Amino acid sequence: MCGIVGYLGKRKAYPVLINGLKRLEYRGYDSAGVAMINDQGQLNVYKTKGKVSDLEAYASDKDLTGTVGIAHTRWATHGEPNSVNAHPHFSASGNLAIIHNGIIENYAVLKKQLMEKGVEFKSNTDTEVLIQLIEYIQTSKHTDLLTAVRMALHTVIGAYAIAVLDRNNPDQIIAARKSSPLVVGIGEDEFFLGSDASPIIEYTKKVIYLDDKDIAIIRRGEDVKIVDFYNEELKHDVTEVALDLAQIEKGGYPHFMLKEINEQPDCLMDCMSGRVNVDVNNVVLSAVIDHRQRLVDARRFIIVACGTSWHAGLIGKQLIEDICHVPCEVEYASEFRYRNPVINSTDVVIAISQSGETADTLAAVELAKQKGAFIYGICNAIGSSIPRATHTGSYIHVGPEIGVASTKAFTGQVTVLTMLALALGKERGTIDQQKYVNLLHELHDIPEKMKTLLQQCTDNIHEIAKIFTYARNFLYLGRGYNYPVALEGALKLKEISYIHAEGYPAAEMKHGPIALIDEEMPVVVVATKNVLYEKVLSNIQEIKARHARVIALVNEGDETIKRMADAVIELPQTQECLEPLLATIPLQLMAYFIAVCKGKDVDQPRNLAKSVTVE
Ligand code: GLU
Repeated sequence: MCGIVGYLGKRKAYPVLINGLKRLEYRGYDSAGVAMINDQGQLNVYKTKGKVSDLEAYASDKDLTGTVGIAHTRWATHGEPNSVNAHPHFSASGNLAIIHNGIIENYAVLKKQLMEKGVEFKSNTDTEVLIQLIEYIQTSKHTDLLTAVRMALHTVIGAYAIAVLDRNNPDQIIAARKSSPLVVGIGEDEFFLGSDASPIIEYTKKVIYLDDKDIAIIRRGEDVKIVDFYNEELKHDVTEVALDLAQIEKGGYPHFMLKEINEQPDCLMDCMSGRVNVDVNNVVLSAVIDHRQRLVDARRFIIVACGTSWHAGLIGKQLIEDICHVPCEVEYASEFRYRNPVINSTDVVIAISQSGETADTLAAVELAKQKGAFIYGICNAIGSSIPRATHTGSYIHVGPEIGVASTKAFTGQVTVLTMLALALGKERGTIDQQKYVNLLHELHDIPEKMKTLLQQCTDNIHEIAKIFTYARNFLYLGRGYNYPVALEGALKLKEISYIHAEGYPAAEMKHGPIALIDEEMPVVVVATKNVLYEKVLSNIQEIKARHARVIALVNEGDETIKRMADAVIELPQTQECLEPLLATIPLQLMAYFIAVCKGKDVDQPRNLAKSVTVE
C-alpha cells in the first residue's frame, strides 16, 4: 500500500524518483505523483490517476529538471482516487509540497478549524490538511519549517510517513514517521527516501530505518540529522541492507494468493494502525466517533454480505452480541434484497464487501436505506460504490487483493468488526474496562502471533496437503466462533481446488452429515481449547469410530487430540473471540497447497470473478 520515494543529491532527481516508484508498485496503488524543485527555484508537481507509466507519459513533455524531489504512489483512503487527490499536495502559498502514507484520523476536526481561519482546500484528502496545518503554523507563529512540522505532528492523531519539500529551501527534505515505514538511504553526497529499501538499493546499501516519531532532516552537504518531536537529537545506526533486486521484482511468491496469505500480519497492522492504541488503551474508529449516538441507539444490527464476507459477518454477529449486547442478524444480501425484510429506523445495517461493488450487497444497502435504516459499510476498495452509498463505514485497509480467493480481506473484515464491537461496546457501557483492555491488547498482538504461526505451520501444511490431495469430498467442523472458520475453510477449498467441501457446526454433524463419513472423507476439525472443547472432542471420537481421517487445528501442546487425529496443526493461544483470525490461516494454506498439488490455476480459478458486479 502506497509508496514514498525521495531524492536529494547530485543526480537528476526525476529518473531516481520514477524508478523508485516502479520498485514500490507491488504495494498496490491507484495514482502517482512527483514534485521537484528546478534550478530556477520553481516547484513543479505532476500527478495523475493510474499507473506510474501514466505519470511518465503525462510528465514526458514537462520540465523534469532538478536535483531534489519527492514522489508517491497513493492508495486512496480519504477521497476518490483521482489526480486532484493524488499526492504531492501543496500548501496554500504553493511553497510546500507533501507526500504522505497513512491516515490522519482527526483530519475532519483540523480541517474545520483551518477552514474557519480561511484556509481553502483543493482535495478531499486527510493529507492536504496536514500540509495546510504545517504552513498555517509556520506563518502564524513565524517559525521555521522544522518547528512547524514538529508542532503539527504533536497535533495530529493517526499513522503517517511523510516527506516535505520547501520551494524556498531546495537543499532540504524533512521526513517523519509514525506507524508507517520510512527508510533513509545514504550515498556519496546524496540521500534517498523510501517506504522500504527497494527504491534505494541500486544506489546505496547504507540505510537508516526510521523509528516511530523520528523526524529526519536531510540537507545538502550535511549528515542526516534525526530529532524527536521535541527537537532532541537521536542517534541511529546506519544499516547495510542485504536485499537482492530480483527478489523484490518477483515479489518472491509464485502466486498472489500465497503472497496475500503471507501479507496478513502486515495488513492487519495497517488495518489497526491509528485505530487500536495500546499506549492509551483505546480503540478509535472515526465512524463511531462521528455517528456515536446513532450507533449507540441501535436496537438491532443486520449484517448483509455474500461469500467470504458473509462468513466474516457470522463472526461479527457473535462479537456484536457478546460485546455490545445488541441483537445481530446475518443475511445473504441476495436473499435479503428479494424478500420484504422488516426494517426499523433504529436498525443499523452493516454491509460487508471486499470490492465495494458486489451487486447483491449494493442492492441490499439501497433497500435498507429506503426503509430508513442507518447503513455502515465495511469495504476494501476505496471510493467504490458501497462506501459511496452508505451513511458511514470503515475501510479495512489491507491493500489491493488480487488473488480471486479472498484471504487477507477476510481477516481484515474480521479485524474491523472486532474493533467496531469494542469501540461500540465501550460507548454502550456493555463491556467492562478490564475485558476491553485485555481484548484490545490481544487484538494488537494478533499480527505477531500470525507471523509466528505462518512460519511454523507452512511446511507442515504443505505435507498434509500432499497426503489429502486424493479426496473428492471434505467436511469442515467448528463450533462457536470457529463455526464460520469451518465454513470459510470449506469455501477456500471449493474455490481453488474444485474439491467438494461442506462446513458445518460440529454439533450438527449428527443431524445428517455423519451419514457421509467414511474412510474416503477427510474431516477438518477446528478444536481449540475454548468452552466447547470437550464437545468437539466427542465429535472427533465419533468421526474416528467411522474410520474417517481427521485433520485437527488445536492449541499448542494439546496432547489429547494429537493422539486421536491423523494430522494436527498447532495454533497460538488467544482470546476465544479472536481465534478465527488465527485458525483461518492454516485453512487458507491448506486450500492453496492442495490446489497447487492438483495443478489448478490458484489465482484465477474457473468461473470465479474477483468483484461480483452482477447478481
Ligand atoms: N490518507 C492519504 C490519502 O488518502 C494517504 C493514503 C496513502 O497511504 O496512500 O490520500
